[in-house]
Amino acid sequence: QLPVIYFVTPTYPRREQIPELKRLAYTLLHVPRLYWLVANDQERCDTFLDTLLSGFGIPYAHMASPMPSEFRKSKPAPRGVANRRAALQWLHQQNITNGVLYFGDDDNTYDLRLFSEIRQTQRVSMFPVGLIAEYAVSVPVVRDGKVVAFLDSWVAGRRWPVDMAGFAVSLAYMSQYPNVNMPYKPGYEEDLFLRSIGLRIDQIEPKGANCTEILVWHTQTKNKKSAVVRLNSEFLDGRSN
Ligand code: UDP
Ligand code: MN
Repeated sequence: QLPVIYFVTPTYPRREQIPELKRLAYTLLHVPRLYWLVANDQERCDTFLDTLLSGFGIPYAHMASPMPSEFRKSKPAPRGVANRRAALQWLHQQNITNGVLYFGDDDNTYDLRLFSEIRQTQRVSMFPVGLIAEYAVSVPVVRDGKVVAFLDSWVAGRRWPVDMAGFAVSLAYMSQYPNVNMPYKPGYEEDLFLRSIGLRIDQIEPKGANCTEILVWHTQTKNKKSAVVRLNSEFLDGRSN
């Protein structure tokens, strides 16, 4: 049997939320043996969202994972971190020690081949992510089938200068590291998470034809605040001039 992919999606209430989740769900519906962990940045589980999620027919868990209020005002804020932490805690509580973990944000674009590539991850697999910052790609550099370096527009002292969507982790491997953690440190979440699971660069499994193919893109939806709705009271009052 195929290993299960635990696809962790942080999401948050805004007017783009429902279309983003629908678009993502219609991708995930093509993927066998996938369990969708949807962690919403909100105090309580939203019943409307839960009805939407259950309607897709994808096995899922829906959790409420609000960003702690002290981080809300910080710029940049640790976006999606409370959500991913809640999913890590869920996996730990369910005692899930096989399958593959992948952090898939609600606004990225996924090639279906990504899922077959990451499915057999032994420890940690890595691959390019398109549309990242200035270079428009974040990519592990591979020599003779091994990752030897990283190309990323913002290295910033990180040992693992990769995007959240650029790696997958075996849960059997991760379960050997009880101190696995994703701290609230904007920009350094991937690096510190990967540092917490004791990885050596020669152990990384390059995917996507030795990291020459892009199978996931960091697309971003233009995000607008909802407008203030003004009712035309002339019509409501039945008046006219
Ligand atoms: N997110 C969240 N709370 C927020 C902002 C973002 O849970 O206040 C989620 C969002 O739905 C996405 C992830 O965190 O899955 C990363 O956020 P975003 O896509 O805005 O960041 P970017 O991709 O631009 O770094
Ligand atoms: Mn995003």
